[in-house]
Amino acid sequence: AREQLLTIAEVPAVTQDGVSLTLAANISSLKELEAALNNGAEGVGLFRTEFLYMDRNQFPTEQEQFEVYRAVAEKLNGETLIVRTLDIGGDKQLDYYELPEEENPFLGFRAIRFSLERKDLFKTQLRAILRASQYGDVQIMYPLIASVEEVREANEVLAEAQRELVEEGVPHRSDVKAGIMIEVPAAVAIADLLADEVSFFSIGTNDLIQFTLAVDRMNEQISYLYEPYHPAILRMLRTVTNAAKASGIPVSVCGEIAGDVNALPIWLGLGIEELSLSAQAILPVKESMLRTKASDSRRLLEQMFRCKTAREVRRLAESFHAEAA
Ligand code: PEP
Ligand code: MG
Repeated sequence: AREQLLTIAEVPAVTQDGVSLTLAANISSLKELEAALNNGAEGVGLFRTEFLYMDRNQFPTEQEQFEVYRAVAEKLNGETLIVRTLDIGGDKQLDYYELPEEENPFLGFRAIRFSLERKDLFKTQLRAILRASQYGDVQIMYPLIASVEEVREANEVLAEAQRELVEEGVPHRSDVKAGIMIEVPAAVAIADLLADEVSFFSIGTNDLIQFTLAVDRMNEQISYLYEPYHPAILRMLRTVTNAAKASGIPVSVCGEIAGDVNALPIWLGLGIEELSLSAQAILPVKESMLRTKASDSRRLLEQMFRCKTAREVRRLAESFHAEAA
């Protein structure tokens, strides 16, 4: 079955009624890029950079980071590379840097909060990304944004990094786009305000589901409550998509649920243009695309919005997928 799937690696992901969806990859290393490309990834929608900072004994230098970002950009041959700035903290710790012990690390000192506190480290990363942007279509993404102020403050550091590179005569690009992850419920609620400040949204459902449903994504005892098909999540996806469309910015989904073939009609129904998936999910999702109609998906999504329970939504999704098979 795997070999059969590989035959569609080069086929564009288009529904039977001609709607296309960019299927990009989530990667966390140069090595994972290989697997993504072998599976027909159209760009990288989420490069998790934490792994550059882990399993070592000091922060990576600008040059080290630059070399990795450049290598990924070059391998992508002009396709988009979205580099997410450091999302350390939460479940990801560093051996060489003592993060505070916290009662609730996922709600704590992590991601953009860490970067805005350690602007020196943040700027080093941004400089590396700006330099690498000469080698492809490189874009920057900030994680865990919860307010407009955070976006503005991050963009100020970005502008400063750029000024420095200009002054030092270091080659880089000056028109690099910056977007944000939508993974905090507050960001959903102010998606209209955030959309005016950024170049794109990428919905991080892993954290968004955890925070919206108040279900720790690592806690196995309550994992049955971690429910991507919860009507609350559907409504949030709609809010974010509508805000992005109203402002004319692209919106993608990069959480694990994007790789669930049953969820495909949700993206098609909402009119989302891009998914970012783990390498092994790309071809199964594409295969479903080829058998699906966007018009049917829109009708199904309307039905989903009338459901009162996650179970009903999930059933609809599953039977839609089974029928198309
Ligand atoms: C997410 O939260 O959905 C996401 C893609 O980021 P991570 O899994 O790295 O937190
Ligand atoms: Mg996240």
